[in-house]
Amino acid sequence: RTVYVNGDYLPETEAKVSIFDRGFLMADAVYEVTSVLGGKLVDFAGHTARLQRSLSELEMVAPCTMDELLAIHRELVARNDLDEGGIYLQITRGAAEDRDFVWPDPEKVPAGIVLFTFAKPLVDNKTLDEGIKVISVEDQRWARRDIKTTQLLYPSFAKMQAKKAGAADAWLVEDGFVTEGSANNAYIVKDGVIITRQLSTEILHGITRAAILRFAREAQMQVEERPFTIAEAQAADEAFVTSATGFAQPVIAIDGATIGTGVPGTISKRLREIYTEEMRKAAI
Ligand code: PLP
Repeated sequence: RTVYVNGDYLPETEAKVSIFDRGFLMADAVYEVTSVLGGKLVDFAGHTARLQRSLSELEMVAPCTMDELLAIHRELVARNDLDEGGIYLQITRGAAEDRDFVWPDPEKVPAGIVLFTFAKPLVDNKTLDEGIKVISVEDQRWARRDIKTTQLLYPSFAKMQAKKAGAADAWLVEDGFVTEGSANNAYIVKDGVIITRQLSTEILHGITRAAILRFAREAQMQVEERPFTIAEAQAADEAFVTSATGFAQPVIAIDGATIGTGVPGTISKRLREIYTEEMRKAAI
């Protein structure tokens, strides 16, 4: 693969970053994952808007403009001949001279930037036909989950617990209510109403979530943005999760309890179809 690191396009085996990079030492970094469909970028505007927000919340200065970022994404798609998959982008606070909790002056220490592509089937994916099983795990992440940082140890830990329990993913629970999935937003459907937690600092503002809710409302589906419990989810007719590279994925069991009839629900499947169709049209 050809990757991008701090201004250069390089073979992945030659790309290097400093051991003093604060992304490496302190997870002092933000990231985005944009999916690629038919060689085009899905909802790039949404991802850059969220990236700018993550940067500004952490007083980080982007190393380039969003137009330049678009050009880098496109160049990587072309150089890697990528048809379907995604692009990972990470911006770190750079490599200061020493390890210091105090942020370095951005005028003296420029941000670091890394991008790489990955191929992955997004549209045809076996788990979509079967649905996934999830378990619930206490949400022990920091309280600013609206900022997309690379502090992913807890979500990774939660996902490992799921794996050990024979499930594909974990739904995180705080004060008795589901916040979101380890790397996706969580939804249930009851009596035709799509229920998902409202936006706040407690969850990541999913780019796919925004699009899915917009398409659901345009299709005259009812949407309620509010917290729900695991018990409510287990009694729901359907459940699903959304993320940039997963689109909408059906969930068929939570903590061993079957959701609905144990097969992907019709609303989840319909939303996935609409999303795939619309995003293919709108990709740039
Ligand atoms: N929630 C969390 C915690 C995530 O890590 C992600 C994606 O990585 C999402 C939600 C879904 O966000 P998006 O739809 O923008 O990919």
